Amino acid sequence: MHENSELTNHDCFANVFRERGFRKFSTAQIGKLLQEEYPNFSLGSILPNDHAKGNAASCWCVGTPQQIFNKVRRGFYRVRQYQHLESKLFQAEWKV
Ligand SMILES: [Zn+2]
Repeated sequence: MHENSELTNHDCFANVFRERGFRKFSTAQIGKLLQEEYPNFSLGSILPNDHAKGNAASCWCVGTPQQIFNKVRRGFYRVRQYQHLESKLFQAEWKV
């Protein structure tokens, strides 16, 4: 369980899925995993499509090496390679 007040939506996704590279998840599974790690994360903010190439992508990560998911089909996403998921949190720790 983490305190997520300093983390962006993208950081929460990245932290949860950085070690789950190449695995496929449904939107429901993604929501469940996020809420297990970040109980304060509102379900309405869990929009994996925001972090994948899709018709409603809205996160800065889409199209960059930090993009978290590839959309498999409607409602299913595959996590991209974990090396690409270094979040600001982990980068900050490395700099210290
Ligand atoms: Zn993102």
